Amino acid sequence: MNRIILPENYDYAYSERIKKELKLKYPFLTVHSIGKSACQRDITAYSLGNYKNIVLFAGGFHAQEWLTSLVILRFLERVCESVSLRKKLSGVDISSALMSKGITIIPCVNPDGVEIVLNGPETAGEYAELVKEASQGDLSSWNANARGVDLNHNFDAGWHILREMETEQGITGPSPRRYGGHGPHSESETKSLVKFCERNNINHAFAIHSQGEEIYWAYGKETPENSFTMANIFSVCSGYKLVENDGLASHGGFKDWFIEYFRKSAFTIEMGKGKNPLPVSQLDEIYEKIEEMLVIGAVI
Ligand SMILES: [Zn+2]
Repeated sequence: MNRIILPENYDYAYSERIKKELKLKYPFLTVHSIGKSACQRDITAYSLGNYKNIVLFAGGFHAQEWLTSLVILRFLERVCESVSLRKKLSGVDISSALMSKGITIIPCVNPDGVEIVLNGPETAGEYAELVKEASQGDLSSWNANARGVDLNHNFDAGWHILREMETEQGITGPSPRRYGGHGPHSESETKSLVKFCERNNINHAFAIHSQGEEIYWAYGKETPENSFTMANIFSVCSGYKLVENDGLASHGGFKDWFIEYFRKSAFTIEMGKGKNPLPVSQLDEIYEKIEEMLVIGAVI
């Protein structure tokens, strides 16, 4: 079968092209925008199944981690194939499961950041000068959005504690990484994801990052009891290690906010191993290692 999601650079033109191709091939797929980035790029979401009870997979929070977008789109494509051919995926009858559960995939929460690292600072439009100044011409560690804000430091969960830690490290303004913005949810990308989560009934959520082959499942005392059990199942499926954040190590992330705000389970998956950006040639290998975890994650 001809596949749409192939190992290619995930820039915005590519993401717009495959959006059309996926919709054409799988008309049952709902393709929508949850909002706009700072540079007015669409933050695209793909949904299928029962929209009243969703499992969310979101990737591309960090600019260097755009391979996460391809991995979860590959997952989406495999789910669509299984539904249209009425075949099992990783031993699971996904068509039947989608009667009671829905899947929403947001491949890239930070389309501006990815565009900047793949196609240069000029793609940041009105923020091009800010990007050049904050990066000092070196985009090799750029993880932020076009405004120099690390989106996974921008969520309203322990944000003020995180701000103190950033300040101690000398990060006080737009930066390639680890600057949490002038306040929680200051960024349009963060606001868009928060709004989407508030308006939909999301059973549990996955934030896909790279790298380390690790699963983070806890955030403070609001972590639901069954999160640990679920994380153990994911660990067995994938061979990824379970990691519990210790104390101040994590705040301000999407998973942290989701757990604290909704008191529901959320997981950060650090996919793959190596140095970011992981090479696109690792797409097949990484995907194959975590397909079962993603499938179980969608139906559990
Ligand atoms: Zn990350």
